[in-house]
Amino acid sequence: VSNFKDSNELKALASKIIMALGKPWVISTHEFYISTSIGIAIFPEHGKTYNILLKNADTAMHNAKSKGKSCYEVFDFRMHKNILEYIDMEKSIRYAIKNQEFILYYQPQIDLKSGKVIGLEALIRWIHPKKGMIPPNKFIPIAEKTGLIREIGKWVIYEACRQNKEWIEKGYKPIKISINLSAIQLKQKNLIDDIKNIIEETGVDSNYIEFEITENAAIEDLEKTIGILKELKQMNFRIALDDFGTGYSSLNYLKMLPIDYIKLDKFFISNVTIDSKEQAITKFLIKLAKEMAIKIIAEGIETNDQYDYLKKHDCDIGQGYLFGRPISANEIEEILKKTK
Ligand code: C2E
Ligand code: CA
Ligand code: CA
Repeated sequence: VSNFKDSNELKALASKIIMALGKPWVISTHEFYISTSIGIAIFPEHGKTYNILLKNADTAMHNAKSKGKSCYEVFDFRMHKNILEYIDMEKSIRYAIKNQEFILYYQPQIDLKSGKVIGLEALIRWIHPKKGMIPPNKFIPIAEKTGLIREIGKWVIYEACRQNKEWIEKGYKPIKISINLSAIQLKQKNLIDDIKNIIEETGVDSNYIEFEITENAAIEDLEKTIGILKELKQMNFRIALDDFGTGYSSLNYLKMLPIDYIKLDKFFISNVTIDSKEQAITKFLIKLAKEMAIKIIAEGIETNDQYDYLKKHDCDIGQGYLFGRPISANEIEEILKKTK
């Protein structure tokens, strides 16, 4: 494009192109459409040669793509820095796997009626030799994009099962551990075989293991997910639908997916004592789940008011800073000793 006033004019044009190409068309009975991602680089500030200009437009386009379908981006030199950081992170994660820098923390889940600990959610932590503890939201998304989550996820399943068995062998009362599965793992062909091998290797009782999947992950390939979940159920694992209320939250999926628990997302719980709409939805979901023989786990309980409200309305299980933050296996063991 030549003779333009400013980048706004280019953005408007990009928007127009995306819309024009996005119009669906029909061949026989099938509907098709093209989604377009556009990267914009401007001469001469983003490159004085054709090659550099094209390379930077390409970088901008990849940035646009990562924002979702049908977006455009104008190149910015900071994008190079982001890419370098990304590559650096990927390298560090690869190294961390080899160097065994990951550990599992565990957060207690409480029976809201009796106040007793009835389960633990395994949450991964990266203990970086220089940077200290890195939370999962900093590296899980990159591990997912690069596929490294497969290896990390397999280790998480192994470690949680091994720990569960170790505690039982030490004579503590058996306690259920729940493990987060990423969407990438659900798509993995050998997930079930890996899990079978882990059961054999660790000798864990699958009755004490639960898998958590988010609704968004489940519906990426609904048929396949249902198949995998059914297999897991046959092997006596429990299934929880994580972060319920943040995605489509379709009641239809509750009917189709073979789940034992719904985890109500913390955004719900944080408003449950303030917002009457949130209250209505929560009450309704608790009732509906009861009818379907599904248990509700409320996530992110931070205050006594939230606790009281949920208990009063018959919510089964709770998890949150009010009862305890995620802590190391050694610290959990101290709690187990007291309840022995
Ligand atoms: P999640 O599965 O929804 O896990 C619950 C998160 O909420 C945890 O964050 C937990 O520390 C935090 N949380 C618990 N109680 C409270 C509370 O009362 N208030 C607030 N504000 N937060 C609370 P964490 O450990 O940082 O994990 C973040 C996310 O990373 C998890 O969200 C999960 O999606 C992912 N993740 C963690 N471990 C694994 C793993 O082993 N595999 C996979 N695929 N994902 C994992
Ligand atoms: Ca979870
Ligand atoms: Ca959650």
